Amino acid sequence: MESYRQLDPAGIRGLVFDIDDTVTRNGVLEPVAYSAMHRLAGAGFELVAVTGRPLGWTDVIARIWPVRIAVGENGAGWAWIDATGAHEGYFCAQAEREAQASLLETVRQKVAAEMPQITTTNDHRHRRCDLAFDVGESRSLPRAEIDALIALIEKLGARTSVSTVHAHAIPGPWDKAEGVTRALHEVLRVDLDAELDRWVFVGDSGNDAAAFARFPKSVGVANVREHLDHLPVPPRYITDGDRGDGFAELAAHLADQGA
Ligand SMILES: [Mg+2]
Repeated sequence: MESYRQLDPAGIRGLVFDIDDTVTRNGVLEPVAYSAMHRLAGAGFELVAVTGRPLGWTDVIARIWPVRIAVGENGAGWAWIDATGAHEGYFCAQAEREAQASLLETVRQKVAAEMPQITTTNDHRHRRCDLAFDVGESRSLPRAEIDALIALIEKLGARTSVSTVHAHAIPGPWDKAEGVTRALHEVLRVDLDAELDRWVFVGDSGNDAAAFARFPKSVGVANVREHLDHLPVPPRYITDGDRGDGFAELAAHLADQGA
């Protein structure tokens, strides 16, 4: 991985960023990272937040953070605000989402029966398209238990994604990279494949894997080093600081020299 200082800011149009442990520390948004978002937005960069957190949260994030789009549940849907009001979009159509919901109910019941020590997340009721289990938020599960949980979910027919805090059962074909691609097209009419080198992605862990692989200008905040063994493709660049400190370093580099 190269230093983020090697990333050429010329021509960059926007920054797509993960939330947990990329702009937060111990679950709390870091002041330097929030200031950095405002600085980037003020300098004309398009900001897109993309998270494994619930779609109910992205409704709020899109409304009160300086971002154009907030993508949630690892790409399952997104929220945005424009002059006509608040809007939401989904990766899958309504009928598909209903079938997916019944698969998730099966997963929920089987996990409760076979691994009763594992609980759903405390943000569960704000979710619309996936099911998340707490593996590191209110308690830290051993890796072997996380692996067993993942094996069970996949056996039942859902995909999985693991972040620092949650293991997700994903009943559809989305991921962060595909969700961001669809959201940018629906909201901003951006053809991401045609201008991939104008967008920077920054993240930190396993649920960012698809985005690290998709974006040629991918950046890990320094704590990504803890997750490299779960990333088939590491980020191309890395910051010096961890979490929000790293995000703010990258933002200063882009805002000082780009746009
Ligand atoms: Mg993260």
